[in-house]
Amino acid sequence: MDQAGQDFQSAVSASVPGQRGFDTLVVGAGFAGSVLAERLARVLGQRVLVVDKRPHIGGNAYDRHDDHGVLVHPYGPHIFHTNSAEIFDYLSQFTQWRPYQHRVLASVDGQLVPMPINLDTVNRLYGLNLTSFQLEEFFASVAEKKDEVKTSEDVVVGKVGRELYNKFFRGYTRKQWGMDPSELDASVTARVPTRTNRDDRYFTDTYQAMPLHGYTRMFEKMLDHPNIKVMLNTDYRDVVDLLPWKHMVYTGPIDAFFNHKHGKLPYRSLEFRHENVAQEQFQPVGTVNYPNDYAYTRISEFKHITGQQHPTTSVVYEIPRAEGDPYYPVPQPQNAELYRKYEAEAEQLRNVTFVGRLATYKYYNMDQVVGQALATFRRLQQRLGEETDPALAAQQTTA
Ligand code: FAD
Ligand code: UDP
Repeated sequence: MDQAGQDFQSAVSASVPGQRGFDTLVVGAGFAGSVLAERLARVLGQRVLVVDKRPHIGGNAYDRHDDHGVLVHPYGPHIFHTNSAEIFDYLSQFTQWRPYQHRVLASVDGQLVPMPINLDTVNRLYGLNLTSFQLEEFFASVAEKKDEVKTSEDVVVGKVGRELYNKFFRGYTRKQWGMDPSELDASVTARVPTRTNRDDRYFTDTYQAMPLHGYTRMFEKMLDHPNIKVMLNTDYRDVVDLLPWKHMVYTGPIDAFFNHKHGKLPYRSLEFRHENVAQEQFQPVGTVNYPNDYAYTRISEFKHITGQQHPTTSVVYEIPRAEGDPYYPVPQPQNAELYRKYEAEAEQLRNVTFVGRLATYKYYNMDQVVGQALATFRRLQQRLGEETDPALAAQQTTA
């Protein structure tokens, strides 16, 4: 019997004692699914079955040692950062941390310069010696002021003008999304700030750290509970009618759940080209962006990010694709409108809860998904309390 068959057998036997079946079927073992499984089992004592169609837990944050012994992120570089003490403390139950500040350089006009654009970026690019104050004046003189900032082009040309926009954003965005920044919501390029000081960190959040022993070890600890059963290599559709469950937490693409009945929601995909290089270091920082050349957008070198010491080094190239596994929701007004149709359907289903980046079609970072999952748990907890305690429900309706 293959692994999926064995997992299925053991899930069936796990659901039998006491004839209770599973309280919750969690679809997807990424951040959204694992946080909910952990909370439902640990706080509410629920019996939880987690299924994932991939052969591993962790979703896109999964990491593993490659054939050379270097810890890599198969689905692209994942750097943890958050401003929320609650989210950081929650995850700290399952991992220790290694402080890490991510730095990115962009390859522009034959130089590697800091990204986000800062004082050194402009000075090096133009051979100048501006002060922060002078840079502010320079930005003000070149910025194209718009009455309304609606698109990803508006955001950038409104801050740094068209020339820097063309050098750093236009080509990268066209590669990454297969469309011009003028067609994308402002929120996409607004993820990357502009600075007039010399701060060259990619993120400035209060908490910036990597799980000391990797993401997968952290997920193993989250899911290590006698009430949690994990089935890998399993599409939930293959087991949903075979195993008894009361409630489903779904973290896959929402349009797939409804058989694309309102049409396909676009998700942008990536091809990851992994390479091991027989030298200690490949590039000076964790990530180098290539806004204007090559088919790939960026190269990331894992040892910078994980702090691992190793005589060789492993890197990943990200090549954007229209087809393939869904990685990014595409922030555009028409897609938000289509998503709302699915969301309205989802709200009608009382026994299914949709959570996570693909299921709520939100361009969320890991910490935002953890925050959304914790908030979802609190709502489910309250609802279960109301269902089992009518007095509490009455109290809450009158409150
Ligand atoms: P996922 O991790 O996608 O998990 C969903 C799971 O559901 C998957 O494992 C999938 O196999 C499973 N599934 C789907 N359909 C089915 C089905 N039918 N049956 C069974 N299982 C199913 N965030 C950061 O904070 N920092 C970063 O540096 C960062 N870098 C990123 C780089 C890249 C290239 C990408 C793509 C994302 C990055 N992110 C980063 C975002 C981060 O990956 C997500 O926020 C997070 O992983 C989302 O978790 P999730 O549980 O919602 O979804
Ligand atoms: N971006 C860009 N040039 C860069 C870096 C980012 O144009 O050098 C734009 C691009 O549209 C990208 C978005 O800003 O998709 C968000 O960048 P981020 O690094 O947050 O992307 P992610 O890590 O989520 O892929």
